[in-house]
Amino acid sequence: MPPTRSRAGVPEQLGFDGMPERLFVCTPSKLGAYVDCPRRYRYSYVDRPTPPKGPPWAHNSLGASVHTALKNWFGLPADRRDPSVLPTLLKSTWVREGYRDVDQERAAYRAALGWLETYVAGLDPEEEPLGVERVVATKTAVLALNGRADRIDSRPGPQGPEAVIVDYKTGRSGLDADDARGSLALALYAYAAQRVFRRPSYRVELHHLPTGTVAAHEHTEESLARQVRRAEDTARDIMAAEKAVSAGADPDAEFPTNPGPLCGWCDFRKICPSGSEAVAKEPWAAVSHLTPP
Ligand code: SF4
Repeated sequence: MPPTRSRAGVPEQLGFDGMPERLFVCTPSKLGAYVDCPRRYRYSYVDRPTPPKGPPWAHNSLGASVHTALKNWFGLPADRRDPSVLPTLLKSTWVREGYRDVDQERAAYRAALGWLETYVAGLDPEEEPLGVERVVATKTAVLALNGRADRIDSRPGPQGPEAVIVDYKTGRSGLDADDARGSLALALYAYAAQRVFRRPSYRVELHHLPTGTVAAHEHTEESLARQVRRAEDTARDIMAAEKAVSAGADPDAEFPTNPGPLCGWCDFRKICPSGSEAVAKEPWAAVSHLTPP
């Protein structure tokens, strides 16, 4: 039976008892927020108005600037993809928020430009990806999933062209194959890309620009299905908690805190009873290694 639609336009399907059950509309980052900390999920996605967040983070500004520069690189015609355009690309969409001072911001800009120069030197300017910052969406029995993949490449595979999921990383530490294998987001992008592009998509790659390294994993049908089940289990937990709160349960009990190393970096640290005990990180703490002593 084809899915039905609610009045709000949210896709629905029939449950076991014949009543329509709403699919859980989500992105990989929404699911990831709940896995990291149910309370942070509640502050971000449930409480309205959204509680006040802390100041912007310099590492987010740096990551966004590099991502946009790469997006705009692929937006150029192939004959204009020359490293000499990188300073203009990076400057024109540079995000300034969160840095300690202008010196630190300049050091981050220089570092980012160096990463980009090294990175594009390894790209074939003639190669057109299947998608750049491409939204892919699909449904499962539980999820109405959508997400924006940094890049989806077309590469030859044993049975014809395949879609390869590429995710850029700009954090301090490098990444390994376990990071690529365990990433729920990358697996869900691959699962969705198979359906959107109607071709195999098993390979997922983390491109770490500061070190110029690539951490890759080849999924199988089984490992993608495992990650989808994991996502569905998370979605069921979230729906159960939201339903309980709607029925009058204590929201603090349904969305418990998960205190740990993430609290120092959490946007809601100041209003969270567990987070306010954590040592605060300066907004520029994750980029301070880029500033010369
Ligand atoms: S401060 Fe820590 S416990 Fe509180 S919401 Fe953020 S991550 Fe969760």
